[in-house]
Amino acid sequence: MAGFTINGVSKVYGGANPTETLSNIDLKIEDGEFLSILGPSGCGKSTLLELLAGLQLPSSGEVLFDGKPLRGPGIERGVVFQDPSLYPWRTVFRNVELGLELRRATKAERQERVQKYLDMVGLTGFEHKYPHHLSGGMKQRAGLARALANGPEVLLMDEPFGAVDHLTRLQLQDDLLNIWEAERKTVVFVTHDVSEAVFLGNRVVLLSPRPGRIKQIFHVPNKRPRKRDDIELVSIQNDIYAAIHDVKTQEHLEYII
Ligand code: ADP
Ligand code: MG
Repeated sequence: MAGFTINGVSKVYGGANPTETLSNIDLKIEDGEFLSILGPSGCGKSTLLELLAGLQLPSSGEVLFDGKPLRGPGIERGVVFQDPSLYPWRTVFRNVELGLELRRATKAERQERVQKYLDMVGLTGFEHKYPHHLSGGMKQRAGLARALANGPEVLLMDEPFGAVDHLTRLQLQDDLLNIWEAERKTVVFVTHDVSEAVFLGNRVVLLSPRPGRIKQIFHVPNKRPRKRDDIELVSIQNDIYAAIHDVKTQEHLEYII
């Protein structure tokens, strides 16, 4: 069961001025859910995702995956960053093949899996292109195919569509939802975009900054297919904007006092 349990997790980065980035996070992420993590820049979203990836360890508390404490990265948790960092000297096919190659999968298995996921992300016909021939959105598609080809149980995505134009971004959101429907992996999706968080997630965890804390969790009704102008989705967006405004007002008061 590919779920996480985060128990009382805090993260303090060391250095000359140690600061608490995340404070006392308690959160259960269920197997197969699509969880959005939303918050302004600097509130600790990437840190939280890195804790789930095992790229960071908590300063206190614990992160359990599948009921066991996380000690580091693992093949069952695929990470997709804003910059897909494809190798420029490898074709799209060979970039997506990389993880399978490292695991010494057979040529037949590599061929089948890479083609399956390139088709799934809409890159059929681009197998033999090099990354510099691809648009930003297509590079993200290749990065997603690369993560999926490794067969992870969980996808951890850190603002993956942050650097692509708006219309491409909407298309990538639609496609990601379709992939999630087909594959039913657990997805943890970090964004600072309210409408993206609501459109994609079954739940939206809103973080407040300095230190990062869970401000509120919003449940999104699971109507499919989703429509961006759905009245319930718009109303949840409004609730989130109100909660963000409340965070800002409190900070302002602290500032005055
Ligand atoms: P977000 O992804 O929401 O923008 P981050 O998790 O990247 O937030 O960062 C939250 C805070 O933690 C920021 O103030 C940032 O400077 C600090 N921080 C992040 N990573 C490190 C690190 N490796 N070392 C020191 N400070 C860090
Ligand atoms: Mg970040």
